[in-house]
Amino acid sequence: MSAQTTRTPQTPRPPQPDPHEGVCSDIRDGVRSLCAAFPSAYFRDIDARAAYPDAFVDALMQAGWLAAMIPQEFGGSGLGLTEASVIMEEINRCGANAGAVHGQMYNMGTLLRHGSDAQKQRYLPEIAAGRLRIQSMAVTEPTTGTDTTQLKTTATRKGDRYVLNGQKVWISRVLHSDLMIVLARTTPLDQVRRRSQGLSVFLVDLRDAIGHGLDVRPIANMVNHETSELFFTDLEVPAENLIGEEGEGFRYILDGLNAERTLIAAECIGDGLWFMDKGTAYARDRVVFGRPIGQNQGVQFPLADSWIELQAANLMRFEACRRFDAGQDCGAQANMAKFLAAKASWEAANVCLQTHGGFGFAHEYDVERKFRETRLYQVAPISTNLIYAHIAEHVLGLPRSF
Ligand SMILES: Cc1cc2nc3c(=O)[nH]c(=O)nc-3n(C[C@H](O)[C@H](O)[C@H](O)COP(=O)(O)OP(=O)(O)OC[C@H]3O[C@@H](n4cnc5c(N)ncnc54)[C@H](O)[C@@H]3O)c2cc1C
Repeated sequence: MSAQTTRTPQTPRPPQPDPHEGVCSDIRDGVRSLCAAFPSAYFRDIDARAAYPDAFVDALMQAGWLAAMIPQEFGGSGLGLTEASVIMEEINRCGANAGAVHGQMYNMGTLLRHGSDAQKQRYLPEIAAGRLRIQSMAVTEPTTGTDTTQLKTTATRKGDRYVLNGQKVWISRVLHSDLMIVLARTTPLDQVRRRSQGLSVFLVDLRDAIGHGLDVRPIANMVNHETSELFFTDLEVPAENLIGEEGEGFRYILDGLNAERTLIAAECIGDGLWFMDKGTAYARDRVVFGRPIGQNQGVQFPLADSWIELQAANLMRFEACRRFDAGQDCGAQANMAKFLAAKASWEAANVCLQTHGGFGFAHEYDVERKFRETRLYQVAPISTNLIYAHIAEHVLGLPRSF
């Protein structure tokens, strides 16, 4: 099935390239050439079968792209957030979904920043080599949601082990990971001065845990995103798998959020540019009423609007990267980049779908798949309202609202 593609004599000039094409162009070329082996038909088929893109993820891991931020002393590339974000952007811009892999890029950060030397020596080289997957991080719980400090999962020290009990929800890629970072309460809430205290981070080896205290139940969902409910029943974790100091885990998780948010922003930019490529190409080619639909202001203005929003979001994304790589505080910029990029990619998705008319609904155009995929990022890993709350409190100095 295909829409009419006859061009009119007055075919307009090809579009200007994205102004950030030149940033890390060698990295862009490398990721694009890897992605070229995985055409949209591959991802369409994976989506239709609700499967996991194993071959694609393996190729990225073996090529070392997901070890970009691991220091060279541990076998990684030792690159900054700018470069890492370009990798994520390009994956999504090529029509793939970095949601299948992004955990491998940033979950190791908790280990890198707060792990002991022994933990780092043991795990990071294996993660960098692509032999060990650290795709999962378990924070969200069904009864407490965004109110993280109230989480109910407990970890109780018993000799040389911790025993974990509780429940998590929406935990991604557990069935395609070897290791998982878990946040659990080690000191009851009524025995700490501040609610953010008494939480600890553990490295759980999923190969030992699943079926031995950890039950994983996949959640069928709108996106083909492997995510599950987790049930911990007396799961034993060696005490040596505690990361950093007991009781300090909430701070360790927060430390990783700026990188996570900025990388997600870059994925949204990649999605947005993909929608712009598709939407403008279709608007130039599709002829109705004897002229390209893109000649109508009612079609071209929303596309132009999406382009403007994406470019603005992208500037904030690179500003967040710049500050992060310079070791400066980037909490506000990372949050704003994620907010702007998620909004811009969703608007570009909507405009792209509308531009395609009925054909936007056909699986073979990939627009409806990417439309579903990019919608997630206004909810996860942090919802839009919580970004407003962050800016209100930490930038505008308004009273905390929750
Ligand atoms: C596909 C998918 C994958 C995910 N992967 C992971 C993962 O790997 N690990 C993990 O830990 N979590 C994961 N999550 C969970 C995700 O981070 C949460 O869904 C998200 O943070 C929102 O939490 P919640 O769903 O509990 O919503 P709730 O906290 O119940 O909030 C519901 C709505 O109310 C709004 N709201 C709540 N409180 C306030 C307030 N005080 N002011 C204004 N608005 C408010 C929220 O913004 C939201 O829109 C994933 C979620 C999805 C859907």
